[in-house]
Amino acid sequence: MPVRFDVITLFPELFAPFFANGVNRRAFERKQVDVRLWPLRDHADGNYRRVDDRPFGGGPGMVMLVEPLLRCLQAIRRDQAAAEPPAPRLPVILFSPTGQRLTQQRVQTLAQGPGAVLLCGRYEGIDQRFIDACVDEEVSLGDYVLSGGELPALTLIDAVARLQPGVLHDAASHEQDSFSDGLLDCPHYSRPEVLQPPAGLLPAEAADLAERGVDWSVPPVLMSGHHADIARWRRDQQLRLTAQRRPDLILAARARGELSKRDERALSEFKL
Ligand code: SAH
Repeated sequence: MPVRFDVITLFPELFAPFFANGVNRRAFERKQVDVRLWPLRDHADGNYRRVDDRPFGGGPGMVMLVEPLLRCLQAIRRDQAAAEPPAPRLPVILFSPTGQRLTQQRVQTLAQGPGAVLLCGRYEGIDQRFIDACVDEEVSLGDYVLSGGELPALTLIDAVARLQPGVLHDAASHEQDSFSDGLLDCPHYSRPEVLQPPAGLLPAEAADLAERGVDWSVPPVLMSGHHADIARWRRDQQLRLTAQRRPDLILAARARGELSKRDERALSEFKL
């Protein structure tokens, strides 16, 4: 069964190019992800096809109206029930800066589940009565404000698509991604083994490179062919990077009992 996403949006044309390329496309072709777009304006009333109005109590901006949203959700529920086999009742997710921050853990659960209805807000947001009556979960991408929920919906679909079995060429690659094991990813290197600093640099560029002290060769352990050493080096790099940038993730991994004595030694220079 594909993971089914029904997306309610005022801007359906924003989605197509994204689904026609790369990992997302592969997930669609393999029928692992099924996205249906529901243009909200199709469910609006009257000649003007109104979907928004001014807020009661005054203030700036516009508010998305309840009635078109209710009609659209009804159409989605009917379509889900008529599917073969009928879809289970999918939760309604509203994208909103006031929601819970999206995490890889939440993405993993969604990737293994039946799907969701994704509601993309616009303007100042949505009439609270629709949220109270129909929304099961509010999801935020982070502590900043976008102009609409379409990028968050694409973000969620992309993160779910790349977790579908066989969509990434190398099955192991998402197991080592950041957050999969609760830590940030390690650095990656590829050919050539030793880089030549670029020729013909402007003096300012050369000074900048010298100041950064870039090492142009690949860390020797990666060339050693020693799998255990390489795994240990990568794990140490992950631990150090995470300790520097996201100490909260180290504390959480420790609380879950996921750090070995050897891990703790790699972390000894950090006061965590
Ligand atoms: N007045 C709202 C912001 C509205 S922005 C507030 O201050 O909370 C318009 C729409 O963009 C929202 O309804 C939501 O769907 C989407 N959006 C904006 N920022 C977002 C974020 N950080 N995460 C998820 N969705 C966001």
